[in-house]
Amino acid sequence: MSNLETAPDIAVRGGTSEVAANPVREIFAGKEVTLGGDTVVRRLLPNLGRRMVGPWCFIDHYGPDDISARAGMAVPPHPHIGLQTVSWLLDGEVHHRDSIGSDQLIRPGELGLMTAGAGIAHAEHSPVAHPALLHGVQLWVALPEASRATAPAWQHHSRLPRLDIAGLSATVILGDVEGERSPGKTFAPIVGLDVTLPPGGGGRLPLEAEFEYAALVMSGGMEADGVALAPGSMLYLGCGRNDLRLASDAGARVLVLGGQPFEERIVMWWNFVARSGDEIAAAREDWMAGDRFGEVSDAGARTPAPALPSGTLKPRGRVRDQ
Ligand code: MN
Repeated sequence: MSNLETAPDIAVRGGTSEVAANPVREIFAGKEVTLGGDTVVRRLLPNLGRRMVGPWCFIDHYGPDDISARAGMAVPPHPHIGLQTVSWLLDGEVHHRDSIGSDQLIRPGELGLMTAGAGIAHAEHSPVAHPALLHGVQLWVALPEASRATAPAWQHHSRLPRLDIAGLSATVILGDVEGERSPGKTFAPIVGLDVTLPPGGGGRLPLEAEFEYAALVMSGGMEADGVALAPGSMLYLGCGRNDLRLASDAGARVLVLGGQPFEERIVMWWNFVARSGDEIAAAREDWMAGDRFGEVSDAGARTPAPALPSGTLKPRGRVRDQ
């Protein structure tokens, strides 16, 4: 997925000053944003109130949309640095291609995990012949300083571990819970779970007290920690919880995303996560010059980078808030 804003701002994110150290309950509805083709997404993160949840720094939820008479997703080649992208589907199929030669159809329940590291380009399209419904999320994970220049990589996992406990079950997308560990490569303490609540179901999902969490309702009405949530809304939960009470009358799917609060300050612009405005400008220049990122074969014309905003952010190093 690409950030297709025509005039994106440069924004400084991360640092523990924004983290709720104790349990909180903040509801976010998401903001509608149009992506490539005719795909409209709800952007849950960043939002006006929250910029990150652990290392998760970008959450787009799309669908369920009936695309039977449409092209569906059409995101042409675009670059990334300093992050991982997580593609996760509840319905439909997405064709991923990237500049290190990956060519992969992603189906519901399969993890598509791209580590951009020093730089990669990719494209995401609905296949020409596709299922009627498209429903999923695109998530970004900020890479910590020690790993952010790593070589670009692509992982696809069609089998992921399941957690089955009283009243609910979950697929472990990233990280681990109760000894069930995802094969997806991670670089910072993080967890991503797709929780299924059967009709009339509910239970207590184990959490890590030092992690920061949010819950994004994908489908069905449900309650999290006693807060009623509609599909497409996200509840920010803060830190300091040993478990999370989930319940649904009619059945629901909810993504639970968490991780250790990300202490480094990051600089986000367009599809880049960096530490300074200069790094962002250099990545933009390389993309426009055809350097660094390579080419995505047969996936359409490259997406030109937007203009940098005036008054580019001054370089700044790692800042650790106390
Ligand atoms: Mn992308």
